Order: sequence, then structure tokens, then C-alpha cells
Amino acid sequence: MLKVDHAAIIGGGFSGTLLAINLLRHGTLRVTMLERQGDRLGRGLAYGAAQAGHILNVRAANMSALPDSPDHFTDWLKQEGLGQEGSFATRRDYGAYLCAMLDKVRGQASDRLTIVTDEAVDLSLRDDGVHIDLRSGGGVDADIVALAPGNLPPHDLPAFAGLSGHSASYVDDPWAASIAEGLGPSDRVLLLGSGLTAVDCALSLDSAGFRGRIVALSRRGLAPQSHAPAAPYTARSDRPRGAASTLVRTLRSRSAEIGWRNAVDELRRFTQDMWRAASAEERSRFLRHLRPYWDVHRHRLAPQVAARLAAMQAEGRLEIHAAKVVEAVPHGRTLHVHLRRRGQDERETLPFARVVNCTGPLGDLRRTDDPLLRQLAIRGDIRPDPLAIGIDVDRQCHAIARNGSAQQRLFVVGPMTRGAHWEIVAVPDIRRQVWELAREITGAHWVEAEGL
Ligand SMILES: Cc1cc2nc3c(=O)[nH]c(=O)nc-3n(C[C@H](O)[C@H](O)[C@H](O)COP(=O)(O)OP(=O)(O)OC[C@H]3O[C@@H](n4cnc5c(N)ncnc54)[C@H](O)[C@@H]3O)c2cc1C
Repeated sequence: MLKVDHAAIIGGGFSGTLLAINLLRHGTLRVTMLERQGDRLGRGLAYGAAQAGHILNVRAANMSALPDSPDHFTDWLKQEGLGQEGSFATRRDYGAYLCAMLDKVRGQASDRLTIVTDEAVDLSLRDDGVHIDLRSGGGVDADIVALAPGNLPPHDLPAFAGLSGHSASYVDDPWAASIAEGLGPSDRVLLLGSGLTAVDCALSLDSAGFRGRIVALSRRGLAPQSHAPAAPYTARSDRPRGAASTLVRTLRSRSAEIGWRNAVDELRRFTQDMWRAASAEERSRFLRHLRPYWDVHRHRLAPQVAARLAAMQAEGRLEIHAAKVVEAVPHGRTLHVHLRRRGQDERETLPFARVVNCTGPLGDLRRTDDPLLRQLAIRGDIRPDPLAIGIDVDRQCHAIARNGSAQQRLFVVGPMTRGAHWEIVAVPDIRRQVWELAREITGAHWVEAEGL
């Protein structure tokens, strides 16, 4: 293991912030964290772009940022006079919790933590360390660097390519504050996608007072399911084995016994191992055929969010359809969208005052415009994982170079490591990943010492 006196972290969202906090807790090294958007520091996209009506999709009791302190978040909520037992907190409150943690660590280790508001645009790996180039022209030298870039923004669907920034009717950022600007009650809005991002967008439009119709489209027309109180059950203790088809049969029969929510939840502690054990072909088959069904059952809505969406549907203000966009043609201040409903041959054309890209994050490194990741990929310092859903890493989060070697000074954490782990999107998984990496880097996994 390398001797690390100074670690740099690129990205100050949940993953980067918690990696910094854990490095400072478990070791005596210095940490420099770089975040290009000052208002996202500590919060990142999920908890920094959230509006008042955006609720966590995981119960507060499972949202502690520290795996060794499971009540950390609920204790904070109580201390702040927020939330109730078993409830779902708001994403804004969760962002405030993360910032409070960061502020505390900053106070305790002010000589060891440096926060820089700047963008890392390139980095070079040397035998004795790393050098990071900043957009401002400055640089940072460190012994190691961890990339915590979060998800890459979605790409425009081919029908909307070229409209971004040129047509007020097309919005490529589903969290843009101006999402409902200029819309009237007779307008219709199209959401491209019907998953969690589309849900966020529908709630933002509703909260902004939009009273027109919202149409959400996806190929299968599946929408996220809701959390509900689950009956007690005895969870299985062994990892399910076999091909994806066997697993689907097992899931179905367990659902009949203990309910589908419990059947999905009991797999949670095995999913990373199941993914690693699966062949490349099985993983790819899962992505092609099962992923949409898995996603809507695994990543659920807080009951109050599901109730709000159901009310919007009942009022005729929200529709979810299985359809594919074929073409989009600007027409005055609207976009005429040609679509084909699932199972039908004929096209349908509908005018929309606004179309919002809610297709979800891009994981394909080969298509990214991000300057840093592009440079690293072009030079072969990082490479896409075999399924092109993220950055290739080993079990210890070392980036894998194009030649297949593990980079000793370059780590990657967060959702972009999904090719290696699959289940690495939500807080419970990322908090474990960054905690383990911090303990590995600081050597705390050998001794039970804690720096703070
Ligand atoms: C809308 C949304 C809601 C979610 N809700 C939940 C939930 O309720 N419960 C749950 O468990 N999980 C939830 N998640 C999942 C999970 O919490 C997030 O995926 C997690 O917060 C990811 O954090 P991150 O730091 O990896 O990425 P991000 O939050 O995207 O942060 C990455 C940061 O890196 C910065 N950055 C990137 N490149 C550079 C660079 N070159 N230089 C400097 N800075 C850079 C960006 O500006 C950004 O602030 C949600 C995710 C999203 C997107």
C-alpha cells in the first residue's frame, strides 16, 4: 500500500464529501476536495438541486451517512426537530445534514481539509504522485486522487439532437429551476422517461403551479412503485444462485410467499455479489430485459409522493404511456412530437409547449463531454467497464487503465462504478464503499484507530 499524506478528491457531492469525512475520521492525512459548483458542495446533485416537495426515496432510518453509526441521520433529525419515526425526510433536509457533517469536520480538522471551488479539467499520474489541472489555471499536487463525479448527464434522444439551447421548448436539465417558466394551463408538457427523474420533474411542475397536462413516455411505460409497510418475514440467509431466468422464478415464488417488496429487499445484501458472480453475458441480458422491471421495484417512491402522483393522474393532469418518440419538429413556440405507441404501427403527432429530457443518467464514458473524463479516457488512464455503464474499477476502487492494469494512485467512487458493483447508486451502498476505501487508504482496516 502507498504511503498517503495528501489525498485529493474531485467532486463534492455525497460520495466525495463522505470520502473526505471518512479519510479525516480514520487517518491523519491531508485532504483537498474540489467542487466546481459552490452551491453543490456537500449536497451534490441529488440533495443540492432538490425542491421542497422532493422526498427521499429511502426511509430516514436507513439514510445515515456513516455505516458505523446507523442512527446518525435520525438523531440529527430529532436534534433539529424534523421528521418522525419511520418517516421519509426531504432531500433538502438531507442536504442540510450532509453540510452540517462537513462543517463539523471542517471545524475539527481545519488544518487537514482544504476545499477548492474549481473544476478539475485534467490530471497527470506520476510515479511519485498526481497533479491536477484546474480550470482557473492553478493546480493541485497530491499522493492519490479519487474521482467522485456522480452520474454523467443524459444525452439528447436523436429526435431532439441539436435543439438543446436553441429551442425554449426543449429542456435538457430536468432539475432546471425554470422548468415551468412561460407555461399556461392549456399547455402540454412531455417528459421523456417515466422513472424517478420524470417523477421529480412532474412534482417540480406541479409545485411551480403548472396546471396543464403532463405526458410521461418510456418504451415500457413503467413507473416507480411505492413503499408500503411490509409484514415481518424471515429473510433468506444464502445468496441465490443460477442464471437470471432462475432468479426471476425464485423472486416470483418468494413474492408469493412474503410479498414482492420483501422479496426484493431480502436480495439487497446479495445483489453486489450476485452481480460479480454473473457472467458478462448474464449481466448484459439483465440490462437488456430485466433492468426496467428491477428499477421500478427496487427504487421506490415515498408513499406521500406516490399519493401525489396518483392524485395528478386521477385529475387527468398526468399520463404515463408506453411509446417511442420517432421525430420532433419545431413549430412556432411548440414542438410537434411524432410518437409510436407500444405494439402499434401508426404514428401519432402531438404538440408540446415543453419537452424535458428525463431519460436518466448516462454511464457511457465514450460519449461524455466532461473535459476531465474525456482526457483520462483518451489517454487510456481510465476505460469504460465491459458493459459501458460506467468507469472500470477493481474491488478496491482503483481505476483500471486501458491496458488492464489497476491504477495505484487513481480511485473512482459513486454511481460511475456501477459496472463493477451494480448496486452502487443509493446512499446505503455508497456510504459503505467510501467508508471501506477510506479505511483502506488510511490503514484503519488494520488498526481500530480513528483520527477524529
Ligand atoms: C435526483 C436524485 C435523487 C436521489 N434520491 C436518493 C434517495 O432518496 N435516497 C438514496 O439513498 N439515494 C438517492 N439518490 C442516489 C444517491 O444519493 C446519489 O446518486 C448520490 O448522492 C451520488 O452522489 P455523488 O457525489 O456520487 O454524485 P453527485 O451528487 O452528482 O456529485 C458529484 C459532484 O462532483 C462535481 N464534479 C464533477 N466533476 C467535477 C470536476 N471535474 N471538478 C470539480 N467538481 C466536479 C459535480 O459538480 C457534483 O457536485 C438520488 C440521486 C438523484 C440523482
